[in-house]
Amino acid sequence: MGKHLVLVGGGHAHMTVMVNLRNYIERGHRVSLIGPSAHHYYSGMGPGLLGGTYRPQDVRFNVKKMVEDRGAAFIRDTVTRIDADQERLVLKSGAEMSYDVVSCNTGSSVPADEDHVAGGHIFPVKPIENLIKVRQIVHDGLGSRNPKLMVVGGGAAALELAGNLWRLVRLSGTEAAITVCGGRNFLASMPPKAQRYARQSLAARNIDIIEGVYVKRLQDGVAILQDQREVNFDLALLAWGVEPSPLFRESGLPIGSDGGLRVNAYLQSVAYPNVFGGGDCISFEPQPLAKVGVYAVRQNPILYANLLAALEDKDPEAFVPQDTYLLIYNLGNGTGILYRGNWVLKGRLIFWFKDTIDRKFMRKFQVSGETSEKDT
Ligand SMILES: Cc1cc2nc3c(=O)[nH]c(=O)nc-3n(C[C@H](O)[C@H](O)[C@H](O)COP(=O)(O)OP(=O)(O)OC[C@H]3O[C@@H](n4cnc5c(N)ncnc54)[C@H](O)[C@@H]3O)c2cc1C
Repeated sequence: MGKHLVLVGGGHAHMTVMVNLRNYIERGHRVSLIGPSAHHYYSGMGPGLLGGTYRPQDVRFNVKKMVEDRGAAFIRDTVTRIDADQERLVLKSGAEMSYDVVSCNTGSSVPADEDHVAGGHIFPVKPIENLIKVRQIVHDGLGSRNPKLMVVGGGAAALELAGNLWRLVRLSGTEAAITVCGGRNFLASMPPKAQRYARQSLAARNIDIIEGVYVKRLQDGVAILQDQREVNFDLALLAWGVEPSPLFRESGLPIGSDGGLRVNAYLQSVAYPNVFGGGDCISFEPQPLAKVGVYAVRQNPILYANLLAALEDKDPEAFVPQDTYLLIYNLGNGTGILYRGNWVLKGRLIFWFKDTIDRKFMRKFQVSGETSEKDT
C-alpha cells in the first residue's frame, strides 16, 4: 500500500527529489511539501541579486508549481515541531500532519537575537529575500547624502555582499561609504592568495575593513565593537555565520553540537530511521561538514534514493562527502575569485564561469510559467 512522504522545506537539498516526485507518486505513494513560501531563492546568486546583476525571478525556483505539476501537494506553512514517536508534524497554523517518511531541508539562519540586534535597517543575509528589500532601500538613497552601509561578517558571504553593495550604489547613481566589520581575521578560511586578491579588490573600491575585533551589538544605527569602539551605520547586513534551524532541538530529536539534526551516513536520523535530512540543517555524524551549498547539492541524489528505499523497505545508500570542492565568489565588479584547496584564480573570466554554472543550475530546476516579480 502507498505511503505518505512529507518534505519539510523545498531548498537546495530537495531539488532532485522535487523534480523526480512523479517516480514516488507513480509507485502509489502520496507526497506533500511544507514550506513558508511558494518560491525558494538560490543563495549562490544572492549577492548578484543584491548588486543588480540578476532580477528576483532569475534566481528563484517556483517550489509550489514544481511540486503541484508533478502531482504532489504544496502546503504553505512552517513546521514547528516533529513528534517522531507519533510520526506527526505540528505546523505554525496549528494544523497537524502525519507521515510515514519525512525529509527535512530547513536550512540555516543568521542568529540575530534581541540582546545583540535592535533597531531598524538591519538585515540578516538569510532569507535571501531580504536582499531584495536592501536593494530597494539603498536604491532609494536612505534619506542621506552619503549613507553608511555596513556588512558584518568575516567570511566569503560578507566579501560578496560588500562587493555587490558597491555595485548597487554605483548603478543607483548615488554615493555611500561601505565598511566591512570582518571579525578577528577577515577571510581567514580562504587560501592566502585568495585573501590577498579579495582585499586588494575591496581596497581599490574604497571599501573599508575593520578587523581584529568582533561586533558585540548593533543598536539603533551604532555597531558596538568588543573593544568598546562605536561605528555608525544607516544600514547593516548581517553575515556573521549561520546555525541550523531550531526545529530539531525544539522537537527533542538527537542533534549535533551545532544544533542540526544528527544523521548517519544515510542522511537518516540516528534515532528515527524514517526521519531524513540534508543541507545546512543536518549534523552529519561521520564527520563535520561546512555549511555550503556544495554539500546540499551533492546530497540530492542520495536523499532521492534513500527516501524511496525507506518507503519501499529497501537498503539505503551512504553519502560520501568529497574532501575538497570548488568555490567561486562574485566580487561585484564583474570579476570573481575561484579556489579549490590552495589553487586560486581570479578575474573577469572567473565571474563569467560562475555566472554560467549558476544559470545552468537554475535552468535545471526552474519550471516554466515563472510568476511575476510582484509575488515574491
Ligand atoms: C550570500 C550567500 C552566498 C552563498 N554562496 C555560496 C556559494 O557560492 N557556494 C556554496 O556552496 N554555498 C554558498 N552559500 C551557502 C549555501 O547557501 C547554503 O549552504 C545552502 O543554501 C544550504 O541549502 P539547504 O538546502 O540546506 O537550505 P536552503 O536552500 O536554505 O533551504 C531551506 C528551505 O527550508 C525552508 N524552511 C526553513 N524552515 C522551515 C520550516 N520550519 N518548515 C518548513 N520549511 C522551512 C526555507 O524557507 C527554505 O526554503 C551561500 C550562502 C549565502 C548566505
